[in-house]
Amino acid sequence: MKLNLSKSLKAFNEAKKLMPGGVNSPVRSFGNVDCNPPFISYGKGSHIFDIDGNEYIDYVGSWGPMIVGHANQRVVEALKSAVEKGTSYGAPTGLETELAKLVKKIYPSIEVIRMVNSGTEATMSALRLARGFTHREKIIKFVGCYHGHSDSLLVSAGSGLATFGVPSSPGVTSGTAKDTIALPYNDIEAVEKIFAECGEEIAAVIIEPIAGNMGLILPRENFLQKLRSITEKYQSLLIFDEVMCGFRVALGGAQELFNIKPDLTCLGKIIGGGLPCAAYGGREEIMRQISPDGKVYQAGTLSGNPLAMTAGIETLKILIEDVDFTKKITAKTSKLVDGLKSKAAKYNVKIQAHQCGSMFSFFFSDHEVNNFSDAVNADQEKFKKYFIAMLEQKIYLPPSQFETNFMSIAHTDEDIDRTIAAFEIAFKTL
Ligand SMILES: *Cc1c(COP(=O)(O)O)cnc(C)c1O
Repeated sequence: MKLNLSKSLKAFNEAKKLMPGGVNSPVRSFGNVDCNPPFISYGKGSHIFDIDGNEYIDYVGSWGPMIVGHANQRVVEALKSAVEKGTSYGAPTGLETELAKLVKKIYPSIEVIRMVNSGTEATMSALRLARGFTHREKIIKFVGCYHGHSDSLLVSAGSGLATFGVPSSPGVTSGTAKDTIALPYNDIEAVEKIFAECGEEIAAVIIEPIAGNMGLILPRENFLQKLRSITEKYQSLLIFDEVMCGFRVALGGAQELFNIKPDLTCLGKIIGGGLPCAAYGGREEIMRQISPDGKVYQAGTLSGNPLAMTAGIETLKILIEDVDFTKKITAKTSKLVDGLKSKAAKYNVKIQAHQCGSMFSFFFSDHEVNNFSDAVNADQEKFKKYFIAMLEQKIYLPPSQFETNFMSIAHTDEDIDRTIAAFEIAFKTL
């Protein structure tokens, strides 16, 4: 390793004594790539700085939220004045209404919304609601889609579970798992078959409409449209988990991009501008079943807390006010992905590169990648070598081929050129 990570290594060893893997979320441990993780001391714009004094160009962006860059001035100023007023009251504030209005304007399918603290909570609650509303118990999810770590959704999940090769987690009871039907992504025939068998028992289909937790995988032509029509036919709910792709692939997420109206939508990551916040919402008739309007219970001590609302409001305002935001950030991403492809071609490295808006990833594979089994067949050893070569050049990437890279609006042309030059060096050595 050409990079000096000695202070980080010391910090990591100390953390490992106190926390599983030394971390509070598994993928941060870098367990998959044979090196210890840099410990971060601060971030500014598109760069993060570790405690050894290394400065990196960051394409993780806290796994998606930091679309306006780290420590964005406007967000920081708003948070400073919010924190002076106290950090949580457990009572309603106007900030919650303000964020709800912004989200509703961007997502017309969300008529009524509930704020929560994490994507996990959003999807877990949306499923409970779907079951409560339909009086049905089964759900369909897709293999390699990650919807957080609630029990019913930890079946054939992607993200950290894919990285660590855990198909599903101990502690999830067989009783819970049996109500979750996991089907291959992009396989509409498998969906049609299950609906023909037991469609009247299926409460909901939950999907990442742009899959970002097995690397980035796009839905095939009409896959989502067909899911919409089959769920309508059987009166099952269609839940779009846009925790990652929401506000990112388009301001109005995948549902705007594909012009599909799901019954319920889960949002997270960007909606909290880097603070813990997520939400679920959708058709009024369904959402009114939530307590206290209805009987489906769901609550949260810190839900809608003023700091998270403030960071979310400022971040969304930045996205809304610049009508060309998505266009600009997509152009930056395309420039990087084009550079990536040309360097791979130059050194005859076979890759499948995928992009949607400001999300991108690629697989070391000479086959098309349309689902999780295609993704796991990509070359993991090559990925590790590539990852280390990039880190040594101070390009900070997700330490797994099963994760997506994120561009921020703060990335400069110089950042992108430096990254493309780093691809060249990495590919040359593969
Ligand atoms: C990150 C993510 C989640 C989980 O969100 P947390 O805030 O980590 O609980 C759920 N769904 C998708 C699609 C995600 O990318």
